[in-house]
Amino acid sequence: MQSRNFEDRRAKRAWKHLTMSVNNTIDEMQDDNNRPSRMEYFDEMFRTLYGKGKGLPGMDGKKVIGTYCIHVPEELIYAAGAVPMRLCAGVYDAVDAGRDFLPDISCPVIKSTIGLWRMPILPFYNSCDVVVIPTSCDWKTKLGEIIEEDVPVWMLELPHIKDTEASRQYWLSEIEGLKLKIEKLTGNKITRKGLKQAVRSIHLAQKEFRRLYNTRMSDTPVISGRDAMLVMNAYFYDTVDKWAEAAKALNDELDMRIQKGTQVSKRTSARIMLTGSPVIFPNYKIPNIIEDMGGVLVSDDLCSSNQYINDMVAIDEPLMLDMLTAVANRYLLPCCCPVFTSSEDRAERILQMIDDFKISGVVYHVLKGCHPYDLEVVKLEGILKKKDIPMLKLETDYSLEDIEQLRTRIEAFLETLSSRKGGN
Ligand code: SF4
Ligand code: SF4
Repeated sequence: MQSRNFEDRRAKRAWKHLTMSVNNTIDEMQDDNNRPSRMEYFDEMFRTLYGKGKGLPGMDGKKVIGTYCIHVPEELIYAAGAVPMRLCAGVYDAVDAGRDFLPDISCPVIKSTIGLWRMPILPFYNSCDVVVIPTSCDWKTKLGEIIEEDVPVWMLELPHIKDTEASRQYWLSEIEGLKLKIEKLTGNKITRKGLKQAVRSIHLAQKEFRRLYNTRMSDTPVISGRDAMLVMNAYFYDTVDKWAEAAKALNDELDMRIQKGTQVSKRTSARIMLTGSPVIFPNYKIPNIIEDMGGVLVSDDLCSSNQYINDMVAIDEPLMLDMLTAVANRYLLPCCCPVFTSSEDRAERILQMIDDFKISGVVYHVLKGCHPYDLEVVKLEGILKKKDIPMLKLETDYSLEDIEQLRTRIEAFLETLSSRKGGN
């Protein structure tokens, strides 16, 4: 265990470096004068949270429930008058502190997450009253035991085979248990009316997500992939209503850009889909390289982006139990995380996206230590090969040490795609 002085110095260093790198990342994105002006809302959110080290306004007085992964029903949290905040982390500067508590082979999301609990550099972490962790992958299953000295933890047991009646019943009982805990924490009863209102608010956000998603199918992209990713990453921290309002303003602007013929890349640019481990701000090294090298990232199936709020809940179930069942099902049945067996639905969703977005090639991102995604590479590669879709697997972490090597491999991949297409 390190001394207190060492910890303080490390936290100060990490904070200084994080502030600088976040501000640089946003500055570089803003240097692009062809960028939608409505991105400013999202830029400012990240500068506030990471660059200025402040919590977000609008949370005051409400209980804040930290969440991990995409299986914690935010409908229940909003229905109880609390706010959710997703804490899966992409901060390189916290990885070192997390390493003290974990084997070296663990994934950087977990190292970074634990580092952020141990180093008090992001105030919004400390605003959490409790965190909910689904037993998704092995690292998440053990995460609660490590951070329970920093924050109260509720584990949520996620079945790994989702298409049996027993799994569905078990998951429903977990969600019912979670509902009771949230009611106790907030002192507010979750009523059918409250739940219906929460589902409705999330639907409005999903409507804007879907508009953005559909806009990116266009032959002439009007928003870059990294900007679209920033918008979806912002959903981690924002309240659903504020996010939906900001996303609506952005979508309206994108509609205008389509009318005016404004575009962010050439019609001939290779259209890339990103799949695999999550890409979480500020770790944008893969999307940055792809787009800096002339590719355009038009789609992804990441849990940090397009998969995040894709699936919907039926709003008009007559009884509370039916509504709870609909909420529980949203987070289990359509979910394409690799932690479930089997992964056929994930492959089907990817193939559908390849058609819808006219994808030229797939980049498969594996964070070192992310076994669920690593285990699925060979199978997906075989499926794509049969369809003649080129795929590039990249294994990396949050450090910048491999950046030149990644650049070389991505450049070669884009050249291959370009030559298949008959020249860029
Ligand atoms: S892909 Fe991994 S990190 Fe993302 S929600 Fe699923 S288990 Fe969690
Ligand atoms: S699914 Fe992969 S990226 Fe997500 S926490 Fe688990 S190992 Fe890390």
